[in-house]
Order: sequence, then structure tokens, then C-alpha cells
Amino acid sequence: MKRKTSQRAAIEQVFQVEERPLGIEEILQHGRAMVESLNQATVYRNLKLLVDQGWLQQINHPAMGTLYERTGKGHHHHFHCHDCNRVFELPGCTLNQQAAAPEGFIVEAHEIFLFGVCPSCAANMG
Ligand SMILES: [Zn+2]
Ligand SMILES: [Zn+2]
Repeated sequence: MKRKTSQRAAIEQVFQVEERPLGIEEILQHGRAMVESLNQATVYRNLKLLVDQGWLQQINHPAMGTLYERTGKGHHHHFHCHDCNRVFELPGCTLNQQAAAPEGFIVEAHEIFLFGVCPSCAANMG
């Protein structure tokens, strides 16, 4: 007897295949290709579980709201392509955050989103 893919396994697989931060709609869309019964409530429940377990973390996109990404990658920035609406992870950090704030401010953290066109969309533009 072949064991059916669990909803949680399907969600994990979506992240392993896509390798970038995902919103609920994208997770649903990709996950349904594996588990048809997947719906918004079950996805939210499983995402919460995966966040609680430290497998996923939430990031806040200025316009798209909450996105989910794999943990354990260290500090990095994000890139939003306005053409395909996908968010990518950028390697490393180039910001001297203390130098970016005026004197007197103690900087503790930052989040950076770059906006533009991703390589595959840029290639399609010719
Ligand atoms: Zn794109
Ligand atoms: Zn940074």
C-alpha cells in the first residue's frame, strides 16, 4: 500500500523545491499539486507548527504581508520582482547598519527589501 503524502510533508517539499520565501497563496498553489485536499486552514495550521519547531520563520514584506522562509540561513536581504511577484533571498549583508543611522541611535537590527526585476523576467524582456 502506498502511503499518501501528508499535508505537512507536502508543505515542506514546496519549500525545498522553491528555495525562497513564500506567501500563503504560493504555498497553497504548489502544495495542491501534491495533496489535493490542502486548504488555507490546514496550511496555516501546518505553517504555525513548522514555525514553532524552528523549521520556518516569518518575514514581513512591506506590501505582501507575512511570508515564510526556511530558518538557519543567517542574516540576509530579500529581493522582490515586480514582474513575477516572487521574493528571493540575497546572500550576505553589505550594510554598515550603525553608520546608516544618525548619531545617538543604537541600531539593533534591520530588514532590507530590494525591488526590481529578477534574472528570468529580465531575460524574457529581451
Ligand atoms: Zn521575476
Ligand atoms: Zn543586512
